[in-house]
Amino acid sequence: MPTVHAIPAFSDNYIWALIPDNENRVVIVDPGDAAPVQSFLAARGLDLGAILITHHHPDHTGGIGALTAEYDVPVYGPARERQAIAGLTARLADGDQIDIDWLGCRFDVIDVPGHTIGHIALVGGGMLFSGDTLFHGGCGKLFEGSAGQMRASLERLRALPDDTSIYCGHEYTLKNLQFAAAVEPENADIAARIEQVQALRDRQQPSLPSIIGLEKRVNPFMRWDVPDIRRAARERHGSDLDGPDAVFAVLRQWKDDF
Ligand SMILES: [Zn+2]
Repeated sequence: MPTVHAIPAFSDNYIWALIPDNENRVVIVDPGDAAPVQSFLAARGLDLGAILITHHHPDHTGGIGALTAEYDVPVYGPARERQAIAGLTARLADGDQIDIDWLGCRFDVIDVPGHTIGHIALVGGGMLFSGDTLFHGGCGKLFEGSAGQMRASLERLRALPDDTSIYCGHEYTLKNLQFAAAVEPENADIAARIEQVQALRDRQQPSLPSIIGLEKRVNPFMRWDVPDIRRAARERHGSDLDGPDAVFAVLRQWKDDF
């Protein structure tokens, strides 16, 4: 199984590097910027072997051009985005697989519309690369999709095994958990996780990876069907909410205004 390294980029992005055992090639996920990837490779004497892309936003794709100018590698990305992604060599959608023979694990592609329409998540080897769909403690903004689409996408990710490691696109965890605590003031798991994450961030360490089992306990966007969350959303809305998508929509709007 490859080891996973976080390459910080911009102010709060993570570019993920997957390094297999006994290989000097690396798979890079969502290179929004080429320079930190080039520095990472140079510092370790590694080659770029492939690029994986979760969605079309520039802070996840901006490094493709410079990296593929230097390295002739395949670039796997979403087939169904509204905006074309320059440099893709393989366009993927739900049910497709990414099989890089030297990597040591395969990835299943899951369509997760919401943040963008064509956003994909990659699942394999006990890992989930969720881009800007599922964050630790939160979810992506609804730039293109509806609340119902995002909730359905997160429902699919929630069904993954509890010990699945989550590697997402941004270090938004503390702010997300502060919102989660506002929604669920009585949730002791959220309070405990805030302390742990604060300690990690004080040492400049990532709060990631999370795991699915933890998100099910602390992330309001994975808990739309929990009675306390439904009650909080109804109180925020001021009247009864008609079903899980309506609860989710109120939560998402609440977070946008938080
Ligand atoms: Zn994005």
